[in-house]
Amino acid sequence: MRRIQVSTQSRSQMVNITGQVQREVQASGISEGICVVYVPHTTAGVFINEGADPSVMEDMENTLERMVPWNGPYRHGEGNAAAHVKATLVGESVTVIVEDARLQLGTWQAIFFAEFDGPRSRSVWVRVIQG
Ligand code: ZN
Repeated sequence: MRRIQVSTQSRSQMVNITGQVQREVQASGISEGICVVYVPHTTAGVFINEGADPSVMEDMENTLERMVPWNGPYRHGEGNAAAHVKATLVGESVTVIVEDARLQLGTWQAIFFAEFDGPRSRSVWVRVIQG
């Protein structure tokens, strides 16, 4: 398994990690298979969406904030219940096909690490499986 470190600067932040994941694919030496990207945290996640226009990520953050406001009638005593809920909404892993040692993403797609309780230093686990 390979690891990527992601440092976030604010409570909510979407970080494009496509380049880092691609580097791990290359370092694995596997040219055909699948790449699993997994976030081992309960208040962060990972998803694939548009990487070309940054306003899409702004819309994503703002919409999630409207759906799951930071201050709400939550029971979780740690004060970060919204971050747990958002992490579950976006999910904790993505799987991408690898061919010719390249992640096979659509033209506008990118892999985003989603921070919901930053700023923090986070880990992302990457496993490339031949096949
Ligand atoms: Zn918590």
